[in-house]
Amino acid sequence: MSETLTQALVNLAYVIAASLFILGLKGLSHPRTAVRGNLLGAAGMLLAVVVTLLDRHIIGFELILAGFVIGAAIGATLAVRIQMTAMPQLVALFNGFGGAASAVVAGAALIDPTLQPSGGITLQFSVATVLSGLIGAVTFWGSLVAFGKLQGLITEKPVLLPGRHVLNLALLLGSLALGALLVGAPQEFWLYWTVVAAASLLGVLLVIPIGGADMPVVISLLNSYSGLAAAATGFVLSNNALIISGSLVGAAGLILTNLMCKAMNRSLPNVLFGGVGAVVATAQEQEDIYAGKVKATSPEEVAMLLEGARRVVFVPGYGMAVAQAQYATRDLYQLLEAKGVEVEFAIHPVAGRMPGHMNVLLAEVDIPYDKLKGLEESNSLFPQTDVVIVVGANDVVNPVARDVNDPSNPIAGMPILEVDKAKTVVVIKRSLSPGFAGIPNPLFAADNTLMLFADAKKALTDIVAALKES
Ligand code: NDP
Repeated sequence: MSETLTQALVNLAYVIAASLFILGLKGLSHPRTAVRGNLLGAAGMLLAVVVTLLDRHIIGFELILAGFVIGAAIGATLAVRIQMTAMPQLVALFNGFGGAASAVVAGAALIDPTLQPSGGITLQFSVATVLSGLIGAVTFWGSLVAFGKLQGLITEKPVLLPGRHVLNLALLLGSLALGALLVGAPQEFWLYWTVVAAASLLGVLLVIPIGGADMPVVISLLNSYSGLAAAATGFVLSNNALIISGSLVGAAGLILTNLMCKAMNRSLPNVLFGGVGAVVATAQEQEDIYAGKVKATSPEEVAMLLEGARRVVFVPGYGMAVAQAQYATRDLYQLLEAKGVEVEFAIHPVAGRMPGHMNVLLAEVDIPYDKLKGLEESNSLFPQTDVVIVVGANDVVNPVARDVNDPSNPIAGMPILEVDKAKTVVVIKRSLSPGFAGIPNPLFAADNTLMLFADAKKALTDIVAALKES
């Protein structure tokens, strides 16, 4: 086959792969098409990888097949065994390895002339190499810290080192200066590894001051970085598929980061540099709000309440994920529907610890998608709701968010689910402990609130049993 025809076919395969990526991303925008979207994206990636390996004569069919089988086995095992609550740290690792791969491949290209442009090192090549090393190393080390925090290997609390902003700025400027030197003298390999070392330290220092609960936002941002690093490596290797897929990942990660910040009514700088999570409510603050006003209830009492209800809304939160209470929630939902009660689920965009967390858990137990209502629709219907059952949610139903004038309020202005407007609110959680934002919740002391202090799974199972008995 002539060289020109081969190149045309390779480029055609890359265009098909890129189209599959875009169709995949489109599919991921709705739960109903998400699985198909995922498969389309994976098929595009497989096509791009296989075509690149064959085109560049890197390895033969046997090795591609072996890699395919081993990779599929590892991927499938991880997908089946990983707990939903551990998904963010798995994504962090994936991003991290993507960043590391970019840094290592760009480093290899600097040493190996066969990976360099045919006419010798160009400006595009050396600039892209520096960017791959810098962004890749920040992504790798930042992702490892994010993983460590979420996995409980290092403290989840923000570690606020004195002078950290100055140090980070110095590291960034230092790596850029070293990078500029490398562009001027690409034969000085040691400069590349110095850039990578400085960027690695920067990656650690950028993520260590961020609290564990903000990690999903950071991971989404690091996901974007891993895409940018890959796109830069695409320029190093002059590989169009890598440039396109890297740019798509970069853009998608950035859009998601922005959406998450908006849903929390926080700016990205506040997430990155605000150290939120460092301050936890004092016992005195809690006492002031709760003393003598909290009414505890029992599963039997809640069952009686539900007997007389016509409209019930569940509000799931992080506690439902921790307790794995989605099955018990489904059982209660089905029982209530069978009794003719109108039941819905009010989903806050940042309930839980990752975007779509609640949607995924409820889809896992086959709650019909049209039963899940967003923030605005739910809020308009709370005043006509007899009972709201808050399953392990806290910040997303905290009325303190309405107090936009208090500068010390970490959730000021965050749109919330206004459950306090319903006739009765039952809050299922184990104690009066605060949620991620670390602040007390006056909802727990409201006149129309009943607290069911228990693990969410146990509480819901007990309510189902009591309702069946009555
Ligand atoms: P919160 O973190 O505010 O509260 C969760 C509550 O669950 C806790 O108060 C805890 O109370 C309770 N809980 C824990 N374990 C159990 C259990 N086994 N059974 C019953 N309850 C339990 O969660 P929300 O979902 O309301 O809010 C999410 C927060 O996370 C928001 O502040 C959001 O900004 C933040 N966030 C969300 C992201 C996302 O993408 N979704 C990303 C980053 C941050 P107790 O210990 O008393 O049981």
